[in-house]
Amino acid sequence: MSAAPLKGVVEGAAALRAGRTSALAEAERALERLERTRGALNAVLAVDRAGALERARALDARRARGEALGELAGVPFALKANMCLSGVEANCASRVLAGYAPPYTATFVQRLLDAGANPIAIANMDEFAMGSSGENSAYGTTKNPWDVARTPGGSSSGSAALVAAGVVPFALGSDTGGSVRQPAALTNLAGYKPTYGRISRYGLIAFASSLDQVSPFARSVADVELVTRVMSGHDERDTTSLPEPAFAAEPEPAALAGLRIGVPREYFPATLDAAVRARCEAALAELERGGARLVPVSLPHSEHAIATYYVVATAEASSNLARYDGVRYGPRRDGDGSLQSMYAATRAQGFGDEVKRRILLGTYVLSSGYYDAWYRRALKVRTLLLRDFERAFERCDIVAGPTSPTAAFKLGEKTDDPVAMYLSDVLTVPASLAGLPALSLPCGFLDAGSNRLPVGLQLIGPARADARVLALGRRYQQLSSFHTELSPLAREVAA
Ligand code: GLN
Repeated sequence: MSAAPLKGVVEGAAALRAGRTSALAEAERALERLERTRGALNAVLAVDRAGALERARALDARRARGEALGELAGVPFALKANMCLSGVEANCASRVLAGYAPPYTATFVQRLLDAGANPIAIANMDEFAMGSSGENSAYGTTKNPWDVARTPGGSSSGSAALVAAGVVPFALGSDTGGSVRQPAALTNLAGYKPTYGRISRYGLIAFASSLDQVSPFARSVADVELVTRVMSGHDERDTTSLPEPAFAAEPEPAALAGLRIGVPREYFPATLDAAVRARCEAALAELERGGARLVPVSLPHSEHAIATYYVVATAEASSNLARYDGVRYGPRRDGDGSLQSMYAATRAQGFGDEVKRRILLGTYVLSSGYYDAWYRRALKVRTLLLRDFERAFERCDIVAGPTSPTAAFKLGEKTDDPVAMYLSDVLTVPASLAGLPALSLPCGFLDAGSNRLPVGLQLIGPARADARVLALGRRYQQLSSFHTELSPLAREVAA
């Protein structure tokens, strides 16, 4: 195996600033890799070739004039199809938004553009970010570059697949209950969900507003950190964005002495895949050898996290998705000519089954007579989950455990059983409900027939401790080399 190593984000921007490559060459190469993998992956819904080449030429012209270039100069990337880049179709992988091109650019995308990054494509996803496998897209399923018979995870399936296949050095996903951390685990990437409010949601098409967070994928933690920092900081257009500037990176703790890593027993249940358990325990042992102290902790309400999440998230989704009525966005179906039947026909034909299931569930839990029994109670349990973490963080600095209870599963394996699919999120939804920063990073492989499948370790920090979580992640990547291993498809592309 002697494939040319693919450039990461930090490296790529440095090479450009030093004049060892041009933005145009980088954009053209990424577009070519995208075309070469398009059939195998189905990871892309739209390509902004003209825009990407134009931005690259403009950047090269600025460099030629000796102007200062941003931290992400010339680095190509992909957006998830629920993110707004003015004029480029963002249909949320739904028929209800087919052809919808937003008239404005999201704050987080604008900040990346201002830093010189170059969006080349819009990635496939589960419809409206509802799913854990990519199989709920109205435009076909995305494949995992480690094994194309398997899921790359979801809902940010296309974004993960594009980075894991080496098409782009980073991509953005959105994480509401695990949609970046879980696919990162299943495709050997770093995926980072920041503290709620760290990155403005202005221009992220809403699923569940109290949970949604823009979250990047890259191969290294240093790369997701740089991208996160560039996007972070208060935005007056999002009232839930934290009223503080972007956080500063911390040096990685060279010796981990003094660092207390909490290991919740609820994150290592009997049902956990044995190989996933073994890889995560080995990673914790490595951190212990590096000087950290492992502290057993308990998050006793974790067993209620999935139920709580599927009440809160569906309630918010039923409200957020009410706007797709055939009047304001996307295609309209006429029905029998009345306004009511136009709404009904547009929504019946526009939304897929999973989205309809969630709108029904969410409408039910918010309806008068059921609100107290379901929605209000879920909010109370959400507070208990938050308190679990607060109590754990009195005894430790970081909580660690697996990201996903299994490695990548076969496409089709869970599509007939929504509850089995929902259980893929059991280890990621608690941090979402509590609004905490959480990182998934590669911690090894397991054997599945002739294939090796990646396993992810999750690090969760207290609210606002983004810098701490990321610094520990960088430290782990100095102690390990799993993240440098490329998927079979990425090796082909780099060859
Ligand atoms: N898989 C979870 C769901 O289906 C999480 C989705 C997400 O984070 N967007 O809701």
